Amino acid sequence: MLSNYTALMHRPPTKHCRNCGSAVVYRIPDDGDTKQRAVCPACHTVHYENPLNVVGTIPVLGERVLLCKRNIEPRLGKWTLPAGFMELQETVAQGAARETLEEAGAQFEMGDFFSLVNIAHVGQVHMFFRARLLSDQFDPGYETLEARLFTEDDIPWNEIAFRTVSETLKRYFADRRTGHFSIHVFDIT
Ligand SMILES: [Zn+2]
Repeated sequence: MLSNYTALMHRPPTKHCRNCGSAVVYRIPDDGDTKQRAVCPACHTVHYENPLNVVGTIPVLGERVLLCKRNIEPRLGKWTLPAGFMELQETVAQGAARETLEEAGAQFEMGDFFSLVNIAHVGQVHMFFRARLLSDQFDPGYETLEARLFTEDDIPWNEIAFRTVSETLKRYFADRRTGHFSIHVFDIT
């Protein structure tokens, strides 16, 4: 799965200083830091690189869950929950709702927080909320080939784009069988 998440990262290593444009070097800064950073040899700016948040929803209508067939790489043609990179100036829930609107064109009500998945080796955290669909009509954006509702038995488990999604879905269905939804925090290594 490493390659999937590596491909998901849309932020390449820093090459040039965002302050003066010089080529950066990766080294431990002189300020007591213990990690290698992109340091500008000209203006001495240290560029910190931190994990990215991916936010999305588990949209549900009755017994069925909405999945989106990806129209973009990576994992083109595979199915995913609506999710994407969080933007600046938005909350986690706002980002999850925005992605659900953009990728599925769904009408829905946001529900409770459901899962937080660490994918430390690629520097990402994925977070999903439950959402209640208000209609079975969808208007997917360009990132989605098809938005469709699946019962648990119909989920194309071998065609799910990302393990964060399949692992979140498994926990969702397990919780639904018990009738009690909790918050799930887990790691993908
Ligand atoms: Zn510089």
